[in-house]
Amino acid sequence: MEENHIYQYSLINALMSGISETGIPVSKFLQKGNQGLGTFVRMDGELLSLDGKVYQLQSEGRVREASPSDQIPFGVTTNFVPQVTKTVRLESKDAIDRELQTFNGHSKNLFLSYRIVGRFKRIKARTVKGQEYKGQPLSELGDKQFIATYEDVDATIVGFRSPKSWQGFAVAGEHLHFISDDRKAGGHVLEVEAESVEMGMATAANIHVELPTSDDFNEADLVMDDDGIKKVEG
Ligand SMILES: [Zn+2]
Repeated sequence: MEENHIYQYSLINALMSGISETGIPVSKFLQKGNQGLGTFVRMDGELLSLDGKVYQLQSEGRVREASPSDQIPFGVTTNFVPQVTKTVRLESKDAIDRELQTFNGHSKNLFLSYRIVGRFKRIKARTVKGQEYKGQPLSELGDKQFIATYEDVDATIVGFRSPKSWQGFAVAGEHLHFISDDRKAGGHVLEVEAESVEMGMATAANIHVELPTSDDFNEADLVMDDDGIKKVEG
């Protein structure tokens, strides 16, 4: 993949419809980029990919390195090369948006990717526990997620900001996952605070999409559940 191009497999809308039985193998996903987010079969935890490795951030806060043959039913990745890197103070998650706006104020309808590295004062994160039955919608899993708060943690955050009008294709707005440097904790970031961390940012204007060809995907009535996405991915 070329620098800062985005590759995405499947759609958030497909996850909302519970389509997560199969996906692309980890080995293929890794060829598409050096940092990404997603989930695993049956939505068993959160996915974070970083510099050639894919991690499964499981409920109860466990972290496992995925095997090359594990499948990814939804994932987004980019060959991230920062166009700007700066030291930032994050008093809240909203501060991430502010920094992105400062970096590229004309990016309302473009994708942005970023990586934040350093010591975080506080990260509140969740991990989904996985489907209880085949086809269970993602919106239902929001009620049964593991939430934890980590303090004074050395970590890396991988994030994407997607345009509002792409809700359902992606998560509109901010979507970020973290993993601790000791690789013992991680999840989908709900809240964040940091005094001084390094934030690299890049604009993405090229999006490559691969859709599943499974019967599950072909037969699904995909609908856009704006409220559901905000509830579970906010
Ligand atoms: Zn997530």
